[in-house]
Amino acid sequence: MSIAITLPDKSVREAEAGISVLDFAKSIAISLGKKAVAGKLNGKLVNLDTQLNGDAELEIVTKDSEDGLEVLRQTATFVLAAAIKDLFPEVRLGQGESQEDGFFYDTDKDNGQLTVDQLPAIKAKMAEIVKANAPIASKTLSHDEALAYFANEPFKKQLVEALDGDVKGFQLGDFFDFEEAALLPSLKDLKHFDLLSVAGAYWEGKSSNPMLQRIYGTAYYKAADLEEDAKRRAEAKERDHRNIGRDLDLFFVDPKAGAGLPYWMPNGATIRRVIERYIIDKELADGYQHVYTPILANLDLYKTSGHWDHYREDMFPPMDMGDGEMLELRPMNCPSHIQVYKHHIRSYRELPLRIAELGMMHRYEKSGALSGLQRVREMTLNDGHTFVALDQIQEEFKKILRLIMDVYEDFNINDYTFRLSYRDPKNTEKYFDDEEMWTRSQTMLKGAMDDLGLDYYEAEGEAAFYGPKLDIQTKTALGNDETMSTIQLDFMLPERFGLTYVGKDGQEHRPVMIHRGVVGTMERFIAYLTEIYKGAFPTWLAPTQAILIPVADAHQEYVEDLKKKMLHAGLRVEIDDRNEKMGYKIREAQTRKVPYTIVVGDKELASATVSVRRYGEADSEEEPANMFIDSVEAEVKNYSRD
Ligand code: ATP
Ligand code: ZN
Repeated sequence: MSIAITLPDKSVREAEAGISVLDFAKSIAISLGKKAVAGKLNGKLVNLDTQLNGDAELEIVTKDSEDGLEVLRQTATFVLAAAIKDLFPEVRLGQGESQEDGFFYDTDKDNGQLTVDQLPAIKAKMAEIVKANAPIASKTLSHDEALAYFANEPFKKQLVEALDGDVKGFQLGDFFDFEEAALLPSLKDLKHFDLLSVAGAYWEGKSSNPMLQRIYGTAYYKAADLEEDAKRRAEAKERDHRNIGRDLDLFFVDPKAGAGLPYWMPNGATIRRVIERYIIDKELADGYQHVYTPILANLDLYKTSGHWDHYREDMFPPMDMGDGEMLELRPMNCPSHIQVYKHHIRSYRELPLRIAELGMMHRYEKSGALSGLQRVREMTLNDGHTFVALDQIQEEFKKILRLIMDVYEDFNINDYTFRLSYRDPKNTEKYFDDEEMWTRSQTMLKGAMDDLGLDYYEAEGEAAFYGPKLDIQTKTALGNDETMSTIQLDFMLPERFGLTYVGKDGQEHRPVMIHRGVVGTMERFIAYLTEIYKGAFPTWLAPTQAILIPVADAHQEYVEDLKKKMLHAGLRVEIDDRNEKMGYKIREAQTRKVPYTIVVGDKELASATVSVRRYGEADSEEEPANMFIDSVEAEVKNYSRD
């Protein structure tokens, strides 16, 4: 029987039914057969020995493609599991997967999980398996055979039970696995791989399930790519705000005290306070009115708003007070600001009415998604809601965007992209079902961006449940895209809460709400700043701006006097008069990334100068003390970056 195979360029080739992907590739060109590592059959990766039994679309996957890299990493996943079982037969395997930047396998072991210390041995075993280059065969087990094979592997067994019928996998010696879709035709191409780290991961991602140990690795076809990757990872580690946060004593999160609930230590709290003051002043200057509203509210508020129907997954369960009263920790501040709006009769003369708050909110993020300050369960959003008339939307949108860009400039944030986030029309669970409102607000947002001539990309399914947004996306040190600032258009909440204002005509009209976050949450913003500055905060943000070191007791008084003057100028300054060597003190100030280290000895005392060493510089300069203080004061005032 003859079958028709459609290739990516849409050309169609006839072939004999039963031909393998590899033979089909060879029939196109011998060289293609040589380069092939897998097939992509109707969009799915398949092994080269897969038979083609009917008409289909097929792409031959070669090493130099993204799919080719995935096949390499699936092979690495398989070999990793084989190596682990070889070394530690008692380990129970969970799932393995190839990812955008590597691969992992989940493991479980009694009397202590596998640790990083065991990675070198596992890696060596993998290399041994690769070197032996034994053939790996596609193999299909019947459902019962698979259950019997995995009799002592509870996780694998559970996976088999969830499958209907046969289990398709691969066999290498005694080892069988079915996590992978396609493996390399020969192991000898798996030369450049590494095992990187271990981390706890809940079975099936659910925190009610046992915690397994996930072993991470990566693999490339070329040695240079693996080296490049290692460099990138080292850089990311150096930037990772969780490491810097620990080293500089900015914050901590202790799962025993509450996962995702950060504690801000004095250093981190100082940075946060500076930013909070900064942003409030900025907003006051832009016409916002700041308020304080409760983090707890009657659940009815969130029923009216729609949060209860569309956002419940992200909310903490309500507190039943026992007398019929249900209280809810707010996941967003909008209903609170709506109360403020509703408290008075509003006139068109008050619009745009801008209500702002550093609003604390709680969201029940999945435990696996929590990360330092970057994704938490309790956060404080630099939130604001502007109530506008229909014809004020465009102008207000631009005003907010201008504010955001202005703030980014002060923080020296240059690397960001605009994302227009739309609803997913098929997902009626998550989004209000009102065709007209969505079309209208999405068109308006897009129109405003086109008007401004700004580049953006569009993302379906990323909108808030009440309306589309403009998200400003930045990248974390680990390369993940995260939303920082957002502007959201909303016709729905004003409707739901029956908001009105009295127009020029004396009639009641419905306002439109614009939700916006400028620096986003304090948590995520400071995580981000920590990463872009690598912990070396500009002077205006640095927890300690200067450390004063007297050379000897004779200089103590002079240093005290300097400190007084600097404190008076609003600067954050410490004296280091510990009984330690000068070199040690200077080094420590550098480790703490303090912008200025000031040394004062006889010469400085005699000439009313200071010896100034800037962070990261090897030499110091002598300056008149007053000039130095003035210049730091100016630097802070201008949010200067260097
Ligand atoms: P994400 O998609 O990142 O979960 P979201 O779209 O739910 O965020 P919004 O409701 O738009 O976020 O929240 C406003 C801002 O709050 C975001 O721009 C982001 O800065 C911040 N944010 C949201 N969730 C968290 C969190 N779990 N931890 C820290 N900051 C957060
Ligand atoms: Zn809001």
